[in-house]
Amino acid sequence: MKSAENHDILIIGGGIGGLTMALSLHSDGIPCRVFEAASAFRPLGVGINMMPHAIRVLSSLGLEENLKRFGVEAKEFAYFNRHGQKIFTEPCGRFAGYEYSHFSIHRGDLHQVLHQAVLERLGPDAVMLGHRCVGVDQNAGGVTVRFEGAAAQDGRIALAFDGFHSVVREQFYPDEGPPRFGGINMWRGVTRRKPFLTGASVTRVGTVQVGKMVIYPIRQFEDGTQLINWNTEQPRDDHKPNDWATPGRIEDFIEPFANWNFDWLDMPGLIADAEFILEYPMVDRDPVGRWVFDRVALMGDAAHPMYPRGGNGGAQAILDAECLTRLLGENEDPVAALRAFEAERLDIINRIVLTNREQPPDYIIETVENLTGGAPFDRIEDVIDRAELAAISDRYKDIARYSKEATGGR
Ligand SMILES: Cc1cc2nc3c(=O)[nH]c(=O)nc-3n(C[C@H](O)[C@H](O)[C@H](O)COP(=O)(O)OP(=O)(O)OC[C@H]3O[C@@H](n4cnc5c(N)ncnc54)[C@H](O)[C@@H]3O)c2cc1C
Repeated sequence: MKSAENHDILIIGGGIGGLTMALSLHSDGIPCRVFEAASAFRPLGVGINMMPHAIRVLSSLGLEENLKRFGVEAKEFAYFNRHGQKIFTEPCGRFAGYEYSHFSIHRGDLHQVLHQAVLERLGPDAVMLGHRCVGVDQNAGGVTVRFEGAAAQDGRIALAFDGFHSVVREQFYPDEGPPRFGGINMWRGVTRRKPFLTGASVTRVGTVQVGKMVIYPIRQFEDGTQLINWNTEQPRDDHKPNDWATPGRIEDFIEPFANWNFDWLDMPGLIADAEFILEYPMVDRDPVGRWVFDRVALMGDAAHPMYPRGGNGGAQAILDAECLTRLLGENEDPVAALRAFEAERLDIINRIVLTNREQPPDYIIETVENLTGGAPFDRIEDVIDRAELAAISDRYKDIARYSKEATGGR
């Protein structure tokens, strides 16, 4: 039997994971409160892909219609070489027979959908803004979360969804040091324009070494135009701090794309017309062997900060929330539930963190680049068998747990 007393859960951080956690606990009748450092939410960031494994969870929370209203339901993954030649396409989400959609959406819109649902369902006091956590204390009976300039809060367990720069993680891993930079910098932007390809294609072009772009629509306007999210990755020796508010400059990254004027998309034009550009380094942290410290758990990016590739940063935070809610329902003792959570998720996610470094989904393009020496091809069939390309794509889906079998599909 669940009771408010036994499951008074303190969620630190009201981002994608923390808000999903609150909705998920509430749907199971488990009381909780969210403590967020920001004094107001601003629609920072750019696009994020929510694939069927994450949408399964958000749909079960009754959010699918709202996501459809704000985002774009993706139809296909499309891969091109640096000459704009099509290498491989495959349907995605429901178009590939999954039971759930794949939405491409502005991170600010996704966050707003979650925040609005929390306010409506849990009430206006469920998310305490302006509560920057500075540390967590615990004893055999409970936890106390301390905040900068606000009263400390007591609970039974504390869930640290406080993101990449987690202070709770720092408390348990004081010697971890700065984020790990893998030598790749990103510039990300959004541009409003008419649709390209299917109007719902998650498109990857080129490779990091010669210039790489990931492009997909994230918002549909009534006049038929779309907000297109684009993201380039390029090798660099140094980087700025990872902060989703750092502005980027076109001249720092445009060079490889100057001639990328394909018959299906004018890349220099897309970049030049950007509404804004952000600069963000490709950083993560080495996987750790422990997320749970008695009554305190690291979750989402605080537990497993990873390269923002393949839509997995947000998705895995959402899956963390779902998993722990189920385990809290199955275990009378919330501390046992936290231990079971770590046992179930740790190895799976640590593998995703490492795969995102070495073989992200666009490994397909790199494979063809290596086989052709970077030259244009006459027919892709003469370079590599389609089944081999599909196998690379499927391998990533298996590791990231969004294969049809893992997600549910026809
Ligand atoms: C502003 C912002 C913009 C982003 N934009 C993108 C994007 O465009 N594309 C993309 O792929 N990913 C983006 N990300 C990252 C992505 O949202 C996360 O990888 C993913 O959502 C993981 O979820 P999370 O809940 O663990 O972390 P997050 O969604 O990052 O949420 C962490 C939350 O904790 C809060 N917080 C931090 N420190 C404290 C503290 N000490 N006390 C209390 N609260 C605290 C933060 O303000 C934030 O609301 C963005 C993250 C942020 C914070």
